[in-house]
Amino acid sequence: NSFSDPQLGLNGRLLHNMNKAGLKKPTPIQRHGMPQLVAGLDVMCCSHTGSGKTAAYLLPIINSIVGDALASRSAYKGSGSSSGKEKTSETKPTALILTPTRELAMQISKDANMFVEGLPVSSFAVFGGQFLGYELEKLKEGRVDILVATPGRLLHLLSEFDVLALGKIRYFVVHEADEMFDRGFFSHIRNIVDQFM
Ligand code: AMP
Repeated sequence: NSFSDPQLGLNGRLLHNMNKAGLKKPTPIQRHGMPQLVAGLDVMCCSHTGSGKTAAYLLPIINSIVGDALASRSAYKGSGSSSGKEKTSETKPTALILTPTRELAMQISKDANMFVEGLPVSSFAVFGGQFLGYELEKLKEGRVDILVATPGRLLHLLSEFDVLALGKIRYFVVHEADEMFDRGFFSHIRNIVDQFM
C-alpha cells in the first residue's frame, strides 16, 4: 500500500519526482492497477476523472523504460563501444498514449514530463492545433520515448512525413477509450495499431 513497495520496484528518482508532485500514497486504481502493469499484463481500467488513472499507467511505463535504459547503459560499459547517441532523423517511441482531445494530450504530457525529470526518458505530445513545424523539428531529433497523441494528428504525421515510426512500440494506452469510440476513432486506432509491426 505504498509507492515504495518492493513489488512495484519503482526507481528512486521516480519516487522523488512523484513525491514532489504530491503523489505520496497510491489511490485505489493505482493500488489495483500498477502491480498488474508492472507484471506486464494488459489492463483495462475504469474509474472517474481525478482518481489517478494517468499516473497508474504512466509510472509503470516510465519505470520500465528507465530500467531498460539503465540496463543497456551498463551493457555498453566494457564493450569497447563509445560511439555515443546514434544520430537519427526518425523518432521511434516505445510507448504510445492515444487521447481523444488535445487538452487531455497536453495534461498527460505535462504529468509525464514532471515524472521523468532527471531520468533517461523523454515524453512529447502531438495533437491537432499545435504548430506542425514544431512537432516535426522535435520528432526529427529522434529522442522521444513516450509519445502522447490525438489520433488524427498522429496519422497525419505518419502518412505525410518521414519523422516517426511505430515499429518499436511496446506500451500502448488508449486513454478514455469510451470517448475515443464515441468520437468514431475506431478505424483510426486500427490504422495506428497496424503500424506497430
Ligand atoms: P486523473 O485525471 O484520474 O489521472 O487524476 C489526476 C489528478 O490526481 C492529477 O492532478 C494527479 O496529479 C493527481 N494524483 C494522481 N495520483 C495521485 C496520488 N497517488 N496522490 C495524490 N494525487 C494524485
